[in-house]
Amino acid sequence: MGKIIAIANQKGGVGKTTTAINLAASLAVLEQRTLLIDADPQANSTSGLGINPKDVENGIYECMVDGVKAQDAIVKNEQLKMLDIIPSHIDLVGAEVEMVSIERREEKMREALKLIKNDYDYVIIDCSPSLGLITINALTAADSIIIPVQCEYFALEGLGKLLNTIKIIQTRLNPGLEIEGILLTLYDSRTSLGNQVVEEVRTHFQKMTFATIIPRNVKLSESPSFGLPAIVHDAESKGAISYLNLANEILKKNGKSK
Ligand code: ADP
Ligand code: MG
Repeated sequence: MGKIIAIANQKGGVGKTTTAINLAASLAVLEQRTLLIDADPQANSTSGLGINPKDVENGIYECMVDGVKAQDAIVKNEQLKMLDIIPSHIDLVGAEVEMVSIERREEKMREALKLIKNDYDYVIIDCSPSLGLITINALTAADSIIIPVQCEYFALEGLGKLLNTIKIIQTRLNPGLEIEGILLTLYDSRTSLGNQVVEEVRTHFQKMTFATIIPRNVKLSESPSFGLPAIVHDAESKGAISYLNLANEILKKNGKSK
């Protein structure tokens, strides 16, 4: 059965999109049938995989609101045969407003994914930097959430609010929602701040924090401009290897490692 993992944190710039693209690509390299869903109107996952958002006719929004079948919104990745994407485009901005009057508006993404969920081993959802309706939809559709936390000042800022939102969703909409893990990102071993944040997060959230830490790595920041995941752009880079480690950690945790 497919597992749906949302990558969420209402803070911007913490590495959600970088994690979504590179975790999805790594899982595909590890022979898991993987679907990446871009649920952010900024469409960074879409363009980061070489798709121009302006060319997107059917995205996740049309699946949620216009009754387009998810199957018909899927785009195959050119480099990795196990990787598919449901892209996004700017109209997702209007979706939140349009959806306000719809019944069961929090469950539209879950419904949209129902028919294709089991065609995949993993479905990864890249969320926008907000706790708005689309993110609520993602967390309602998801089996688990990965929370990227950057190794910077105020790393834990906003985390309380996010954990509270998760509790509310567990109570009202999705009792099965689990925390897959907190992921430390943008780590710079040369700074004492980076090490302090790692220690602080591990002290507060020991059990929840992934062993894998994602370093600050230029290949991770430049590969989207080539429309490629880091593992295709430069498989030997520290960034690509760290996301492969994360994928392996997740497979192991879910009893799927080889
Ligand atoms: P979010 O989706 O949470 O807003 P992004 O993944 O878009 O965050 O990351 C914000 C910026 O930081 C982007 O320019 C991205 O390329 C860069 N970035 C993210 N993670 C790393 C990393 N580990 N090393 C270097 N740059 C990174
Ligand atoms: Mg993003």
